[in-house]
Amino acid sequence: MELPWLANTSDGFYPANRQCLTCGGDFSDGFAYLSGGGMLLSGDGQDSIHTERLKGFLHVGFHGRDSEMRDSGDFLLVDDVSYGQFDLNWCSIKCLRTALGQLLDDLETRISQQTPGEDEHQE
Ligand SMILES: [Zn+2]
Repeated sequence: MELPWLANTSDGFYPANRQCLTCGGDFSDGFAYLSGGGMLLSGDGQDSIHTERLKGFLHVGFHGRDSEMRDSGDFLLVDDVSYGQFDLNWCSIKCLRTALGQLLDDLETRISQQTPGEDEHQE
């Protein structure tokens, strides 16, 4: 799985080709999504202000106990999306579940392959 899914773009939709990352299918029967971001409001809170200065991001990770963070890991999923908002789409909930499960499996694998800290050997 190639990460980040979105980076350095003003188009907050992924995938741009509208084909499911998990199975390659189209979205003709609908789509599952992860949608997120921030919104800048006017002073009176009545309007949203669309500005490139808002930058959307999304990470998933684990913060462990090692002082050098050798038992920690992080994947950057979305980075530097102008206007601050993004939508990540899959053709089905099943494909979204598969993608997130694979992502978390990969995160666990990455963390388990890192060198444990010296203080981890004290037990
Ligand atoms: Zn799919």
